[in-house]
Amino acid sequence: MAILVFAETADKKIKKSSLEAVSYAAAMGGDVVAVVLGQVEGGELEKIGTSGGTKVLHADDAKLNEGVIQAYASVLAEAAGKAGADTVVLAKSSLGDAVAARLSVKMGAGLVSNVVALPQGNKVKRSIYTGKAFANVELKSGKKIIAIKKNAVPLKTDGGAAAVEKFTPSLSDADFKAKITSQEKAKGKVLLPEADIVVSGGRGLKGPENWGMVEELADALGAATGCSKPVSDMEWRPHHEHVGQTGVKVSPSLYIAIGISGAIQHLAGVNSSKYIVVINKDPEAPFFKAADYGVAADAFEVVPKLTEAIKALNN
Ligand SMILES: Cc1cc2nc3c(=O)[nH]c(=O)nc-3n(C[C@H](O)[C@H](O)[C@H](O)COP(=O)(O)OP(=O)(O)OC[C@H]3O[C@@H](n4cnc5c(N)ncnc54)[C@H](O)[C@@H]3O)c2cc1C
Repeated sequence: MAILVFAETADKKIKKSSLEAVSYAAAMGGDVVAVVLGQVEGGELEKIGTSGGTKVLHADDAKLNEGVIQAYASVLAEAAGKAGADTVVLAKSSLGDAVAARLSVKMGAGLVSNVVALPQGNKVKRSIYTGKAFANVELKSGKKIIAIKKNAVPLKTDGGAAAVEKFTPSLSDADFKAKITSQEKAKGKVLLPEADIVVSGGRGLKGPENWGMVEELADALGAATGCSKPVSDMEWRPHHEHVGQTGVKVSPSLYIAIGISGAIQHLAGVNSSKYIVVINKDPEAPFFKAADYGVAADAFEVVPKLTEAIKALNN
């Protein structure tokens, strides 16, 4: 029995979180058929094989370049039938959530989201309360949809080559009741929600005039910049950089928090990060409890030195 994986794309590249979903499905055993919707850059489909996929169904249709939710759900339901898959695996994301809910209705499948470990029989473990606790969920349906949490499963990198098959789903106008007519993307070298490394600053940076230090560190690391809520409220930084419960939720491999206290509302947006590094002059700052590495020192002394060291490494 094959497992179908929805391989989500952004800017014609397959998202790392979707390659984690492929790796997860491969670890479950059996054939892993990934569906890629819309046009992608050369070499992108090969990543599916490297991550453990055995086959790619590529619906190479420009109409599917943007995430039209209804159309995506229809195409995935058709692909599941074509692949003979009773289980669909995907990465938890805002698009993934919207598509999975509709797909579960179309397939009559049980759906569990935010999954952090491989299934044990029909039971899956999911993260709840913004990563503070876990719940074990039993899937009683024959058909299952599992949406995995970003950075929760290891990425497989030693797979083989997946066979690529062109897939022409039967789409109709009814699948495109809503149409994206234009998009305005946040400016910035690296987009925050997709970034693999994020450097964030808080009120400890004292003012917008000091942000050059944060940007320089982010540049050296190829990272996106973020901030705490008060920083965007005071308009030191734009609102789309505000990270947390009421802002952007990030799950990079590395999150560096500079002069941020670590209030629960901020942590809610960053606790899926693989590694958290905290720089704060107060050794009692709550963020240190969530940190993998911490520097209890003045950011104005530490950050420039850190940036210089990274630049030296880059050279
Ligand atoms: C309903 C609600 C929703 C919220 N949502 C969010 C959210 O989504 N995201 C969010 O961030 N907040 C959110 N908040 C606000 C949150 O509670 C905190 O007030 C906020 O995160 C604090 O921001 P901060 O850490 O930058 O500032 P502060 O709490 O002022 O902390 C500044 C930190 O900088 C350190 N510092 C000072 N000087 C230096 C220095 N020279 N070097 C190094 N460290 C230094 C200090 O020790 C301190 O720990 C929300 C609050 C509410 C009530």
